[in-house]
Amino acid sequence: MSSSTDRRNIAVGPRNGGAAVKGVTQRVHSPNRSRNDPLEEDVQAFLIDENQLHTFDDLTKVNPVTPATVLKCLQARYRLKVFYTHAGCTLVALNPFQPIPDLYSVDVMKEYHYATQPQEFKPHIFIVAEEAYRNVQGQLEPVNQSLVVSGESGAGKTWTSRCLMKYYATVAASAQAVSSQDAAGRIERRVLDSNPLMEAFGNACTLRNNNSSRFGKYIQLQLDRAQLLVGASVQTYLLEKTRVACQPANERNFHIFYQMMKGATDEQRTDWMMPQHQGFVWLPNCEKQIEEDGFLETTEAMAHLGIDAERQRQIFRILAGILHLGNVSFCSSTSESQPCDLDQHSEDFLQRAGELLGVPAEELCRCLRVRTLKAGKQNVLKPCSRAECGVRRDCLAKVVYGQLFEWLVTFINSCICAGQSKWRNFIGVLDVYGFECFQINNLEQLCINYANEKLQQHFVAHYLRAQQEEYVSEGLEWSFVKYQDNQSCLDLLEGSPISVFSLLNEESRLNRASDSTALRGRLEKELGGNDNICWDKFSKVPHFNVAHYAGKVSYQLEGMVEKNKNSLENLMKLLLTTAPHYTRCIKPNSDCRPLTFKNREVILQLEACGIVETIHISAAGFPIRIPLKSFVQRYGPIGKCSASSRLDTDPDAEGADVLQQQVEKLLRVALQHNASRDERRSLVHCGKTKV
Ligand code: ATP
Ligand code: MG
Repeated sequence: MSSSTDRRNIAVGPRNGGAAVKGVTQRVHSPNRSRNDPLEEDVQAFLIDENQLHTFDDLTKVNPVTPATVLKCLQARYRLKVFYTHAGCTLVALNPFQPIPDLYSVDVMKEYHYATQPQEFKPHIFIVAEEAYRNVQGQLEPVNQSLVVSGESGAGKTWTSRCLMKYYATVAASAQAVSSQDAAGRIERRVLDSNPLMEAFGNACTLRNNNSSRFGKYIQLQLDRAQLLVGASVQTYLLEKTRVACQPANERNFHIFYQMMKGATDEQRTDWMMPQHQGFVWLPNCEKQIEEDGFLETTEAMAHLGIDAERQRQIFRILAGILHLGNVSFCSSTSESQPCDLDQHSEDFLQRAGELLGVPAEELCRCLRVRTLKAGKQNVLKPCSRAECGVRRDCLAKVVYGQLFEWLVTFINSCICAGQSKWRNFIGVLDVYGFECFQINNLEQLCINYANEKLQQHFVAHYLRAQQEEYVSEGLEWSFVKYQDNQSCLDLLEGSPISVFSLLNEESRLNRASDSTALRGRLEKELGGNDNICWDKFSKVPHFNVAHYAGKVSYQLEGMVEKNKNSLENLMKLLLTTAPHYTRCIKPNSDCRPLTFKNREVILQLEACGIVETIHISAAGFPIRIPLKSFVQRYGPIGKCSASSRLDTDPDAEGADVLQQQVEKLLRVALQHNASRDERRSLVHCGKTKV
């Protein structure tokens, strides 16, 4: 456990009702509890009166901790519209699927922010926010914080991330900003405006969520020495670009296209060459009225962020160009040496696409229909088949959209990022899209699930494993709690020297993309020994199955070659330098129905994220860990007040042995006047480097 996490615990203290430090071994499993053990009393309450279930603010108090008891407790709370529950180090957030008045108001933010002990308030995402805010300063040095929000699609990650950003934009706003009349010019406003803008370009209506994020986002909120918000920077991951040219059945393209269709003025439509009732192949399900009133909000956010009217016009013309490109289709060629003809109605769309994208239409047409091959030093032109023309058209749209999205993120950063000298530390908020498993899964799902594996690994490595290892290295007696380690799945996907990704990359370099059967053969030969990969014997489709921490997913191999496992490495490295706070969003029903709790669906999510193991480790562990030196520096005066037990030495000058003796002495002094000191003594342990 890093020292940063220790500081977090020092600054904020225990969550579970004052039982700050617990026993050495796994007390939750201990059959020999004393009758007046507060946990035991909770058990009685739990067993006797189910009406009390909703009162468990922290799942570590539930006993016994099993998926069933945890589920019952969450269900009881949900019924009473209590949506947040601590699970030791993690906050569980249940999606109400309806606005809850006053739950996130500025007044509530202030209550949590100004509270002396916010953790004694009802569980709330603002406790997590405040905890990170207080700890970012650190006791001895600043410690950057990360708020990791996870959960399946529609569980509430983006909602939660927005709440967190609003919280900091409120409590960390500078006085100058608050009194400023120029609301749009304020940094807090600009940081918040980046949300609707990125969501317009990166979110879409899917079967699981009407506002599903199709990219991952890590936003670093930059704080100055006075802990005021002075800027932010955004990094994005794995934008699902294929959606531009191919929308799964009953799903939609990115919101921005629908916003344009609904919100444009007549003048804009003329400029974009889009008559009122023009249909577009890449805009399915236009009749659904979802998230498309946002055109005004999007353009206002653009304006606040400094994207002027001319730039906006250029952006929308590119988007319109993409839509026109989607209406271009081809006929089969009569001979291999002849390029395919455009089909009947495509000529106009191609002309318009060229004009809107700023490319001569003939050049665009040539690019789509003919490819250039290198033969020695010469370039040879080869006409493409009808299917290849379609693929080239789709690729062009994906590239253009991807570049536009990247430009947008760079632009947003340029106007919200504070200069290096202005900020001292940051709080990062991570919102990536959740684990996905469909009937047919391809490279997109593999990348998404790989990102989730990495996050799970971060949680396992940083919290579960590190915490247990620390108890052992501190010389404390500890019986290990088993948890699901996903390392072998990650070895399969990204390990060295051979992994699924390395084989996919190699195949794409060798340009053998179309031979998915051969690729399946290689995967089986090279990786068949890994327990996390298997094949369905009788399937005729080339595929492979991966056992992820959250469940088994079958991936189709066809076409799975072009991407690589991009930018995630850097994110993981960055996360490891920060003190993490985890929020697990749970989707209580898959129909997105308000206040509906489906046991089976919830339990699968609890199991997938290992919540029961988390609770076991949190309940049995030591929530507060203070380095010996800090402990002596902080509580030394207690010893000095006492005539009988004086601490004479300077802690800075001492080695671990002396510090340990001093701590023991201090604990004796602190506990000597306490009637139940033996009991309390068992709750405090002095390790080799920490109390
Ligand atoms: P994805 O992975 O698809 O992006 P997500 O986890 O980001 O999903 P959200 O878009 O945050 O999911 O949430 C889905 C919907 O659930 C929201 O649009 C909103 O209607 C509702 N919702 C989520 N959290 C809350 C909340 N705390 N209060 C009220 N409604 C909520
Ligand atoms: Mg989202």
